Order: sequence, then C-alpha cells, then structure tokens
Amino acid sequence: MEYQPVLTVEGALVGCEALVRWDHPTRGRLSPGEFLEAAERYKLTPAIAERVLDVALGDLARWRRGGTRLTVSVNVSASDLRDEGLVRLVASALLTHDVPPEALTIEITETAMMHNPEQAQQVMAALSDLGVRLSVDDYGTGYSSLEYLLKLPINEIKLDRAFCRDIVTELRATAIVRSTVDLTHALGLRMVAEGVENAGTLFVLRELGCDLVQGWLLGRPMPAQAFELLIAQELRRGSRELLS
Ligand code: C2E
Ligand code: MG
Ligand code: MG
Ligand code: MG
Repeated sequence: MEYQPVLTVEGALVGCEALVRWDHPTRGRLSPGEFLEAAERYKLTPAIAERVLDVALGDLARWRRGGTRLTVSVNVSASDLRDEGLVRLVASALLTHDVPPEALTIEITETAMMHNPEQAQQVMAALSDLGVRLSVDDYGTGYSSLEYLLKLPINEIKLDRAFCRDIVTELRATAIVRSTVDLTHALGLRMVAEGVENAGTLFVLRELGCDLVQGWLLGRPMPAQAFELLIAQELRRGSRELLS
C-alpha cells in the first residue's frame, strides 16, 4: 500500500489516498494499471478490497491514536459495486480498527457507477448509511449524465487530472474547473483536484476556490513509514502554531 497526501489549498495535511501496489516476485512493484484488469477477470477484487481496507484502516487507526484527525480515501472497482459484499467489508473493517466512519472516504469512478447504476445506487446508499463519505473519482471523464448528482449520496467531487494539467495556459480548462468548483459548492459538496504537478496549477486552484489538492507537487504516493514522517512534521508545525 502507498499513501499520497491530501492537503487543503492552504497547505494543511488533512489525509491521504490509499493506492494499492503489487510486489510481484519477478517483475518488481506493479501499479494498479498493470494488474487490476486481470484481478477483475479472476474475480479477485473483493479480496483486494478486503486487504486494502484492512491495511489502510489499520494504518489510519494508528495515526489517529497518535493524535491526528487524518482521513483516508480508498478506491473500489466497478465489480465491488455489484452486491452488498463491499458494505459488509467496510462495516467490519471500521469495527475491527475502531475507526469512525466519517474518517473513511470511498472513491468510485463515474465509469464504475454507470456500469450498473441501479446496483451502484443501492450499494452507495448503504455505504452512506454507515456514515462513510463518498467521492466521485476521475470526475468529468466518464460517459455519464449529471443525473447521478441528484440521486446519489455524494460528499465529494474529485476532478480528473486531465483538467488541472492545462489550467494555467488553456482558458477552456480554466473555465471547466471554475464551473466545476461552483457546481460542487452549490451542491454543498467539497472539491478535490488531483494531479497537481506545479505551483502555477496550485495557485489557480486556490484562486478558483478549490478545497483540497493532491499531486506530485505536494507529495508522491509513498509507503506508510514515509507518510508517518510527514505526519510528524505536520504535528510539529501545528504545535509551533499553537505556541506562537
Ligand atoms: P486514481 O484513484 O485516480 O488515483 C490517482 C492516480 O494518479 C494514482 O495512480 C496516482 O499515483 C497518480 N498521481 C497522483 N498524483 C499525480 C500527479 O501529480 N501526476 C500524475 N501524472 N499522476 C499522479 P496509481 O497509483 O497508478 O493508480 C491508478 C488507479 O488505480 C487509481 O486512479 C485508481 O482508480 C486505481 N486504484 C488504486 N488503488 C486501488 C485500490 O486499492 N483498489 C482499486 N479497486 N483501485 C485502485
Ligand atoms: Mg482515487
Ligand atoms: Mg482519480
Ligand atoms: Mg485515475
């Protein structure tokens, strides 16, 4: 598991996204793009979801016992939305690690939601009833209608990095991000921008009122140990601010 920091546009660490890796015996560390399709084919995604939830919530519980209020976001596959199995996995992992549901966000891509909208709606409603937060991942890249924003219990919109990449130079990208921020806030949701790679992008996102940011500029995905150094730094900064 690797964790990528999620920050406010002002630079405060609020949490992380858990990103799964496979340490393959001969091919080394593989990213999800290299094995998730095969995992779907072999019906291994429930096992992956179970493991990812267990590791991520175990780590989060430890960090929160250390005095932080961090949150974690976990991604799920389209096939995880097929039945209520995911809801049971989430409920049991929260219980096992004694993590409050609102500290967990489940990220679901538009594409996964639209795979079987009725079924996805049921699973998402059940997750929402648990108190877990729901995020629309890769927003703007799926072939989806905006209708789901009316129906589904969503807390967060995570704009795909395709829109952030050219935000500084491409007026159309800026317009799309601006109107997405406005839509997100009008719906009472929060907006996360992913793929923030340079200071110019961060500056424009802050000007446009985006809430949270994530990307290489702010931190690459890293193992738990490295993320813990970042938490320690943040705690020191917090106590300095309290003392000054
Ligand atoms: P995602 O959820 O949209 O995650 C963001 C991806 O963008 C991650 O790739 C991350 O490493 C990468 N990224 C982060 N910041 C930057 C940046 O500034 N620039 C660029 N170019 N890329 C950036 P990764 O880790 O390879 O994951 C790819 C996708 O695999 C994820 O996209 C997510 O849909 C899926 N995934 C990851 N972990 C899991 C998991 O535990 N379960 C399931 N079902 N899917 C997962
Ligand atoms: Mg994600
Ligand atoms: Mg994404
Ligand atoms: Mg993506």
